[in-house]
Amino acid sequence: MILILKGGATDEQVDHVIERVEALGLKAHLSRGTFRTIVGIIGDESEIVVESIRAIPAVAKVVPVLPPYKLASREAHPDASVVDVSGVKLGGGHIGLIAGPCSVEEEDRMHRIAERVAAAGANIFRGGAYKPRTSPYAYQGLGEEGLRILRDVGDAHGMHVVTEVTDPRLVGLVSEYADLLQVGARNMQNFALLNEVGASQRPVLLKRGMSATVTDLLMCAEYILSQGNANVILCERGIKGFDPATRNLFDVAAVPLVHQLSHLPIIVDPSHATGKPDLIPACALAGLAAGADGVHIEVHDCPEVAKSDGPQALLPEQYADVAAQMKSLAELLGKSVSPLPEKTA
Ligand code: PEP
Ligand code: MN
Repeated sequence: MILILKGGATDEQVDHVIERVEALGLKAHLSRGTFRTIVGIIGDESEIVVESIRAIPAVAKVVPVLPPYKLASREAHPDASVVDVSGVKLGGGHIGLIAGPCSVEEEDRMHRIAERVAAAGANIFRGGAYKPRTSPYAYQGLGEEGLRILRDVGDAHGMHVVTEVTDPRLVGLVSEYADLLQVGARNMQNFALLNEVGASQRPVLLKRGMSATVTDLLMCAEYILSQGNANVILCERGIKGFDPATRNLFDVAAVPLVHQLSHLPIIVDPSHATGKPDLIPACALAGLAAGADGVHIEVHDCPEVAKSDGPQALLPEQYADVAAQMKSLAELLGKSVSPLPEKTA
């Protein structure tokens, strides 16, 4: 860590900075320039409480050398991590294709959709049983009955399942049914929830908050990793933009950026990023071309009766087209779509 001191800092103030650094058990290396004095701190940066250093009167700027997300960083783990979702791998050249309706709905419809997306090559089936809705009057999901339906449908079609967990108190219950726990954009910074999914040993799909920076996302992943759960998959799902022409702003550059900064896999969700079926295939392919380790797409066989997010759902036949293109692109990139797991008992 490097401290840049304020111009005109007196000798007394500089001595005080050094005393404070040494009191923390660290070494200070002083460098006096013509206009500014700089103090290099040598020692374990993660042990330093940056705020107390920043509060020293003569300190103008604190420049960390290492990122604040220690476990999520590339420095900590130079090779790309591969997350294993009950046999389906994501990361390090393995592509996950997650597809299904926004919400878990009637069982027969779920079977119809699952059959079609499995045939198209999707390897993880999705559907929300607990829906975080902007309005308390909007459809809230089927709850535990939805979890049961999702699990049964996934098993019937040989797919593993992902569903959202919205509350720390539900982590145990949702883990009984799901192979992958989704933490949604609205809950990205629900730290109690992050700690709870971190304590569970289920893999976690952590979606980027709609106003969150990439650093915020990686710090939230750090919460989960710091609880001992190394199986974290990140998801770029669009951030708030100024243009209502798309539901959100698809930040495709976040994908290679995350790969530069972190070893964790990152997938893209062009459904929530664009909100428009016409734009989803192009953005799915753009995400893969940018290096995404998977693509998450909402699919419904009759969007006009969908309980949530119908306007952004792809029809199963549209999904089949884009899935075929995604598989070809993955091959071109020297990657492969993880095959469907063996049917679970
Ligand atoms: C969802 O996956 O249906 C969902 C609510 O996503 P997000 O948290 O990204 O809005
Ligand atoms: Mn949705």
